[in-house]
Amino acid sequence: MEKRPTALILGAGIMGLSTAWALLREGFAVHLLDQAPPPNPQGASVDHHRLIRHAYGAQRGYMRMVDDAYAAWDRLWADLGERLYVESGVLAVDDTGGGWVRDTRSALRADGRAHEDLTAAQVAARFPYLSGEGITDAFYCPTGGVLLAERIVAALARHVVAQGAVIEVGRAREIDPDRATITLDSGATRTADVLVVAAGPWIPRLLPQVARRVTASRQVVVRLQPPSDAWLSAPMLLDLAEAGGFYIVPPVAGTPLKIGDHTFSRQGHPDDDRTPDPREVERILALARHRIPGIEGFSRLGAATCFYDVEPDERFVIEKLAPHAWVMSGFSGHGFKFGAVLGERLARAIAHPQHAASLPAWAAGDEVIPA
Ligand SMILES: Cc1cc2nc3c(=O)[nH]c(=O)nc-3n(C[C@H](O)[C@H](O)[C@H](O)COP(=O)(O)OP(=O)(O)OC[C@H]3O[C@@H](n4cnc5c(N)ncnc54)[C@H](O)[C@@H]3O)c2cc1C
Repeated sequence: MEKRPTALILGAGIMGLSTAWALLREGFAVHLLDQAPPPNPQGASVDHHRLIRHAYGAQRGYMRMVDDAYAAWDRLWADLGERLYVESGVLAVDDTGGGWVRDTRSALRADGRAHEDLTAAQVAARFPYLSGEGITDAFYCPTGGVLLAERIVAALARHVVAQGAVIEVGRAREIDPDRATITLDSGATRTADVLVVAAGPWIPRLLPQVARRVTASRQVVVRLQPPSDAWLSAPMLLDLAEAGGFYIVPPVAGTPLKIGDHTFSRQGHPDDDRTPDPREVERILALARHRIPGIEGFSRLGAATCFYDVEPDERFVIEKLAPHAWVMSGFSGHGFKFGAVLGERLARAIAHPQHAASLPAWAAGDEVIPA
């Protein structure tokens, strides 16, 4: 009998698990290694929610990749037997007088994607819990919504194990891409025909060749419970401002409302103490106060510190480290929505090497259609 090819994946976040899911379908025997059982609450993938939207500024490659992302999620929902997504629509508002909202509108228009331009008065009339103060430009997109991230990671981990993958809990100390081998803290080694390193914001310390391009970035998010049920049907809000702006994830499917900011801290390491400083929480709330007049009446449910792995131009790094080793990195706070499709494309490149050459540029957001 022909032996199945083997894959060793470091990291059981959305990238490692999605790649495992797709490699299993390609006939690989898959061994995942993670320092904690999935869903690891310290991982970049694990929180109540992550957003998916076509609104992508001037980055048209990523805007178009969102279509591929939705198709891949549909394939995953079919395998999981449940759809862990809530459509909310997207409201983008700008008080800087231009830039990102304008670029996004031109990109949406060029592709004929449904969206509606709004004035400040229309924003305030249609979403009465928001203030239109200072808004110079705005649009609403009906497509876009909330991926229930933690539930997706948990369900995907159960699914790949049911399909025969092994998830080992252990910490990698060293990676040897040339030998497709990982050395664990215990000194034991693991090896396979192909190695995938999908270790999220821990990668810069594990792979010096990636550290030159990717930086771990500490980000604080604040969780609130609004007093009004009107928020249950609110769109995601992307608020752009000179000071950097913020986003709001609506409280769908029993989750809290979440506020985060758009600015990368580029500070810290994911193993550092993660207790949010009250000043960090106050800074996030201050960004949103003028837009949400009733925010002081919201119950504070807490705050959390998460980590991005930031590439300077926010371009993903899915590249070969060696003939039989790949890295997935640089997801810069916008990777989750593409998890399923990136896993599928990397598995295809591994199983069918004629697809390998075009993958890095496509993953980096270039408008290249892979063969
Ligand atoms: C606050 C926040 C908001 C975000 N919002 C969005 C959004 O709205 N939309 C969107 O698309 N994306 C968003 N993102 C980005 C997205 O969540 C990430 O890009 C994505 O989850 C990265 O997945 P990953 O699998 O690469 O990393 P991770 O989920 O971090 O997985 C890496 C895994 O590797 C393991 N690991 C690391 N080092 C070792 C080691 N030495 N030994 C063993 N195991 C190890 C870790 O334990 C971890 O489980 C957001 C991220 C954050 C933090």
